[in-house]
Amino acid sequence: MVIQAPVKPDKQISYMVKESARLAKLFCGEKWPVFAFLDSHHPDIPEPPYPPHCIAGTDEARLVPDLQWLENEANATLKCKDCIDGFLGSVEKDGSNVFVDWVKKNQIKAILVVGICTDICVLDFVCSTLSARNRRMLTPLEDVIVYSGACATFDLPVHVAKDINGALAHPQDLMHHIGLYIAKGRGARIVSELSFAAL
Ligand SMILES: [Zn+2]
Repeated sequence: MVIQAPVKPDKQISYMVKESARLAKLFCGEKWPVFAFLDSHHPDIPEPPYPPHCIAGTDEARLVPDLQWLENEANATLKCKDCIDGFLGSVEKDGSNVFVDWVKKNQIKAILVVGICTDICVLDFVCSTLSARNRRMLTPLEDVIVYSGACATFDLPVHVAKDINGALAHPQDLMHHIGLYIAKGRGARIVSELSFAAL
């Protein structure tokens, strides 16, 4: 299970947080490993094309309040990342990869991916993970499952973006759908309901 840092709340995002927190509790109750990414940036190192966000040491770089209990949860591995793609963000200075090591150590065969943003951090992580799996870097990982209800993205409607110089419109429902669509095309399983008996 993978969770990523929050942005400003809205209906889709609030539901994502609620579902992520519910699943994190369930996973920890079952002692199923949880891996959480926290977007965390040095103030002097920008991440183009994005404006400054999740500056290390600020509340924005922490888990949302509903998930902060994970900081003290032995079952959870938390990883600060300073790039969109959590797979690349897991590479350490010595070349090791915290996420790869977590998969291997726990002998994980399926991961359930949730978080924000569906078409950015979630998608890039899923695509890299699928490529790494196909290159046998993540053995024994088989399935990358994205739960749509616990993913969300931000909203910048066309009518708002057109009045902002240089802004790229980002309609929430459409971009959420496109993120899931591309992830599915790359080989992820997209689910709208979860049944753990089936896993
Ligand atoms: Zn970032």
